[in-house]
This record gives sequence, C-alpha cells and structure tokens, in this order.
Amino acid sequence: MSYIVEINQLNKSFGQHHVLKDIDLQVETGEVVVIIGASGSGKSTLIRCINGLEEYNSGSLVVDGHGLEPHGGNQKALNAIRKEVGMVFQQFNLFPHLSVRRNIMLAPMKVKGVNQADATDTADRLLERVGIGSQAEKYPNQLSGGQQQRVAIARALAMEPRLMLFDEPTSALDPEMVGEVLDVMRELAREGMTMIVVTHEMGFAREVADRVIYIHEGRIVEQGPPDQVFDNPQNERTQAFLSRVL
Ligand code: ADP
Ligand code: MG
Repeated sequence: MSYIVEINQLNKSFGQHHVLKDIDLQVETGEVVVIIGASGSGKSTLIRCINGLEEYNSGSLVVDGHGLEPHGGNQKALNAIRKEVGMVFQQFNLFPHLSVRRNIMLAPMKVKGVNQADATDTADRLLERVGIGSQAEKYPNQLSGGQQQRVAIARALAMEPRLMLFDEPTSALDPEMVGEVLDVMRELAREGMTMIVVTHEMGFAREVADRVIYIHEGRIVEQGPPDQVFDNPQNERTQAFLSRVL
C-alpha cells in the first residue's frame, strides 16, 4: 500500500511547548480524513506541518513521495510539496488588489509557467465549478465571505493538487454561508479528491469523512469511520468532547 501522506512518530514543539506528540498518520489516495478536537489541541499545527509551513522536531513526514526532514532543510521536497498540496485557511487570504480571476491565475502562471490564455480558461472553468462564474471580474472585497472562500478553493484547485488541506474553512463565515462552502467540499470529495479537513462541522464529518481523527492535547487518541467515532467513541476524552459539541 502506498500512501499520499505518511507520518511516523512526529513530534513538534514551539520552544518548551510540546504541541504534537508521537503522531502516526497514513492517508490513502482518495481518502477524506476529518480531524476534530478542542481549540489548542494542535490541529492547525499538524496541517501546517504536512505542507511544510511549520517545521517539526522529530519523526518522519513523507508527502506524495517527498520526504520533509525534521527542522526543514529539504528545499527541493518543500517546493514539490507546495506545488502538489492545496491549502484553504479559515481566513481566505485572497490578494485584495487582484480580481477574482487574477487571484486564481497567479500561481499556475508564476509557479508552473502556464500561459495567460490557459490560466484564464482554467480560472473561468473553476469559478463555474464552485458556482460563481459570474464574479470573475470582481475584487475579493466585493464578494461575500462564502463566495471568497469558494474563490480560495478554486485558487487551490488551479494548481491541480494531489491533496487538499482545509483548516476550519467555514469557521469565519456567517452561518448562512457555511452550506455553500461545504457543498463545494462535498462535491470535491465525491469526485475523489484526497482531503484532510479540520472542521467543527460534525454533520459534514459524519457524511463525508472516510475516517475521523480526534486529537487531544497533541495526541491522536481515537480514530475510525464516522459512525464508530460519533456513535460509539471508545476513549473517554472523545466522549467528553463529543458531548460538548454534538
Ligand atoms: P488548534 O488548531 O487545534 O486550535 P494549534 O495547532 O493552532 O491548535 O495550536 C496548538 C498549540 O500550539 C496552542 O497551544 C498554540 O498556542 C500553540 N501554537 C500554535 N502556533 C504557535 C506558534 N507559532 N508559536 C508558539 N505557539 C504556537
Ligand atoms: Mg486551528
């Protein structure tokens, strides 16, 4: 079995603060993994380690065959991973001075050398796909939060990622806009995209995840299919967490 993400015994500290503890995580191509856990448990740090936004201290981390060494250092692997892994954050992080279309065209042109005509076609096709084909000429601040997050997803998809990471993509949205973003993510999952999603949307997790992982204080303490984790959690920490959020 070959995995697109292979993490063994990963540890990560910020100074004296031990944030990720002996993380083992293997993700198969096409799998949708949802990570849940309390605020401060290390979910974002784990996601950021997977695309090299954070260095880790010990263990091993291989993404699509590219090994990232502890303490960074492997620039070639880092560059490869950044090309292959799409990331969507809680804050949309769009470029405010660029139109929606230009936001999506930028990375394929700069990083992959795609020509302007092809980048334009791809941007417009992706905007159609996330349901905002008519907004291409607008600037991010002219869009709703839900629309901006869908642009952010389209922008990540423009790089034709092999893996998509989502870190609480709906947490900054007004409630009425959560559904439209989850719909796009649901569709991506249905089409076979490999996804690791940090979210507090338990309904989405139950419906879309192949596997749910519960992190407590930097440790994976429980994981399994959603039905098992939600309906029959084995660990008392998981039970306590779910009783607070469900
Ligand atoms: P979560 O996403 O589960 O809320 P985080 O991964 O953001 O948790 O944070 C885990 C812990 O690491 C928290 O205690 C947080 O304060 C700490 N932390 C996160 N990023 C940094 C950083 N850049 N420097 C120092 N501490 C950090
Ligand atoms: Mg977080």
